[in-house]
Amino acid sequence: MPMKFEFTFSKSHRPAGGVAVLLQAAGAKEPAGAAVADPEGILAKAAKVGKFSGKALSTLDVIAPHGSPADRIVLLGLGDAAAVGDHDWLKAGGAAAAKLRSAEKATVFLDAPGVEVSGKAAADFALGMEMNAYAFESYKTRKSDDEPKAAQKAVKVTIVTGAVIAAKRAFATAQAIGEGVFLARDLVNEPANVLGPVEFAAKAKELEKLGVDVEILTDREMKKLGMGALLGVAQGSVRPPRLVVMQWKGGKAKDKPVAFVGKGVVFDTGGISIKPASGMEDMKGDMGGAAAVTGLMHVLAARKASVNAVGIIGLVENMPDGSAQRPGDIVTSMSGQTIEVINTDAEGRLVLCDALWYCSDRFKPQFMIDLATLTGAIMVALSNHYAGLFSNDDRLAEQLLAAGQTTQERLWRMPLGKEYDKMIDSKFADMKNTGGRHGGSVTAAQFLKRFVKDTPWAHLDIAGTAMGSPTDEINQSWGSGFGVRLLDELVRANYES
Ligand code: MN
Ligand code: ZN
Repeated sequence: MPMKFEFTFSKSHRPAGGVAVLLQAAGAKEPAGAAVADPEGILAKAAKVGKFSGKALSTLDVIAPHGSPADRIVLLGLGDAAAVGDHDWLKAGGAAAAKLRSAEKATVFLDAPGVEVSGKAAADFALGMEMNAYAFESYKTRKSDDEPKAAQKAVKVTIVTGAVIAAKRAFATAQAIGEGVFLARDLVNEPANVLGPVEFAAKAKELEKLGVDVEILTDREMKKLGMGALLGVAQGSVRPPRLVVMQWKGGKAKDKPVAFVGKGVVFDTGGISIKPASGMEDMKGDMGGAAAVTGLMHVLAARKASVNAVGIIGLVENMPDGSAQRPGDIVTSMSGQTIEVINTDAEGRLVLCDALWYCSDRFKPQFMIDLATLTGAIMVALSNHYAGLFSNDDRLAEQLLAAGQTTQERLWRMPLGKEYDKMIDSKFADMKNTGGRHGGSVTAAQFLKRFVKDTPWAHLDIAGTAMGSPTDEINQSWGSGFGVRLLDELVRANYES
């Protein structure tokens, strides 16, 4: 459901039909816009009968009373006026959008009595509406059994708020963020037969339109660089791997870049250590880290962030065939360190280790953050409510945790340590690619740490949050786009000049 937004400060703006959404704080006598949408004061009775008290995210549908310029009215609760935080505006917008299915136009009266509404809050409300309305439906040819799918018309949304000038400015940024989140969601939702490594790289290449420099390394170039770990994973697929390097140069020329590295396994069968059939279709989302990095680079460029940023994604398909790598094989990574492949399903770290090494070697970044749908073990530990955070740098970890609180893309810090590092020592090579079942997400992180040298680094295990997490006001999609808003916030709060 696409949306088209307009902001106006005319408190007497009369909605010409459509849905009027009126916001109300908990315990307030009346909602915003009551004078316009309900000239005869009937809503108060409807609210009483419907037991609507303005509780956060509660809604009440009311057929517009006689004399109202709207066709339908939705009361939307904001909760305690003193406690409405940044993230609440996104969620409120999402709750409003959920009430607009099949509407053609809507007017939102935002300035609830007793509530301070900033321009950013208004813009976040609009972004929340879009995030709720996002749907991945390109492969549905019918709406329902007998109804052909019509071309989707945008819902026209007018937002009435006193902070209109600030709202318009903030909305430009919010739009950039929305585009990046939706790009990440699209990439994750897209099936693997359509989105292979080459096709994914072509999608990343489109960021050139926004001023991002995009290089695509082929298997031959990666071979020259000695990326034996990444190439070992790719060798079982007929589709060749790609490594994409995206650079946004919004900062001063002398500033060291910040860097983001994503795991992009377009499909993970497990390889020769093949996965069971049940649920294997979800492995089209094993490129959620690469999707988040690509979405983030879109946001930074679209909002012209004053930072130098590098995004690197390793794109491969993990398949079992006659040329696939075997358990017991030993590969040599770009760092020169050798790896015994115990389990070919622990392939993400083999992709990332070469991408991380390449990133630190070439760019000497201020920090590197990698995102990966890396382990089932992180879901055992945290379910899909938090992503796992591993870091060799307390300051970076603190900044990430704070950004997670702000965006509610929440992180939980997990340990690293010598004891865990020992668990991946190998009989035959410098290390092995799994440390067994216990502490599986920790030994995976410990493996990556061997490829970052002294660079401040954080690893986000997003296996539980990038896809299939519970839906909420701002995400109804299987692919959530997790990480895009988090890392944009991290950059904005700490790294822009
Ligand atoms: Mn795997
Ligand atoms: Zn994987």
